[in-house]
Amino acid sequence: MDNHSSLPWKIGAKAPTLILTAYDEGVAVATPHGRKTPLRIEITLANAAYIVQACNAFPDLVKALEDTISASERAIGDHIAPEHCYATGPKTGDALADLVECPACIAAKVNQEARAILAKAKAGA
Ligand SMILES: [Zn+2]
Repeated sequence: MDNHSSLPWKIGAKAPTLILTAYDEGVAVATPHGRKTPLRIEITLANAAYIVQACNAFPDLVKALEDTISASERAIGDHIAPEHCYATGPKTGDALADLVECPACIAAKVNQEARAILAKAKAGA
């Protein structure tokens, strides 16, 4: 996935459905196609803009998510549920007391989900 054209990409000035590289003017990176009805042309233009926006933002979003996960894991530390849960402590068996969610457990679960999303995004899925 690292062999793609240099970012940032942009919409072609003369042919707005062409996605051009900023460093290689005139060379199309990708061209979304649609039928030539007014609605289809509008959708095709929106697709081209979305592809450019998403691709240009992807590296920074991945880095930001990796940094956020890393910082969150440092903040959580060695949190072993339920012994280390500072919101609930060990489960009490009391239905009301056990409703309080541990923020560290929530963060650990969110981090796990975020890592799965990152792996999927990096694999191009
Ligand atoms: Zn916890």
